[in-house]
Amino acid sequence: MLKFENVSKVYEDGFKAVDSISFEIPKGELLVLIGPSGSGKSTTMKMINRMEPHTSGKILINGKDTNSYVASDLRRGIGYVIQQIGLFPHYTIEKNISIVPQLNGWSPDKIKPRVHELMELVGLDPNIHANRYPKELSGGQQQRVGIARALASDPEVILMDEPFSALDPITREQLQGELISLHKKLNKTIIFVTHDMDEALKMGDRIAIMKDGKLLQLDTPEKLLHEPAHGFVEEFIGK
Ligand code: ADP
Ligand code: MG
Repeated sequence: MLKFENVSKVYEDGFKAVDSISFEIPKGELLVLIGPSGSGKSTTMKMINRMEPHTSGKILINGKDTNSYVASDLRRGIGYVIQQIGLFPHYTIEKNISIVPQLNGWSPDKIKPRVHELMELVGLDPNIHANRYPKELSGGQQQRVGIARALASDPEVILMDEPFSALDPITREQLQGELISLHKKLNKTIIFVTHDMDEALKMGDRIAIMKDGKLLQLDTPEKLLHEPAHGFVEEFIGK
């Protein structure tokens, strides 16, 4: 479904943030990308929707080179959730989630039921939350809005860059569980970035480990624990 072929990223200042990585994700997989700060995780995510163009190699979605898409079409197929969700503070929750369907030219009578359905999907009650403003919601609820918004264009791929790292431990665990259920239900391809190995082991169908821009290992949680290809894994899980 998503394929990286020897993809590298050299920033304008000459720094090589991603160094010739190759991997493939089948449709419906939840892949966790883990690695220390500065290892190139966010850069890898940004290259998928061309927010940061890659310098060399190829990125393919369903066999098609991402460079051959019109950027807006490419981005419509990719939902993005980040730690700083960036909800519009002066828009209600309903309006915040409606932005994408509106941009896609949906008629207002179709948008409202769709937005309410999305809210229910992420555990928000439309009767209570639709007309509230972001600051009236807790951090976890705001993050749920971010997920609903990312799902609004019915994307094929969802990229989540440390979406839960600013949340308190209890809310975080709650949202992890909810995302696992949501993933089972929707069967979307998800790449989830974290630097927390417990979170990675809990959530990932497979886990990819990055360090210094390189992909060190990509395996199932079981394989990773029992056959770590690199000392870094033990270091991470504290063995
Ligand atoms: P991670 O998400 O794993 O913490 P990033 O992908 O954000 O890592 O960054 C990888 C490396 O690239 C870091 O060393 C970072 O400083 C560098 N980097 C990120 N963005 C830029 C940029 N716009 N220009 C130059 N270097 C950058
Ligand atoms: Mg990052």
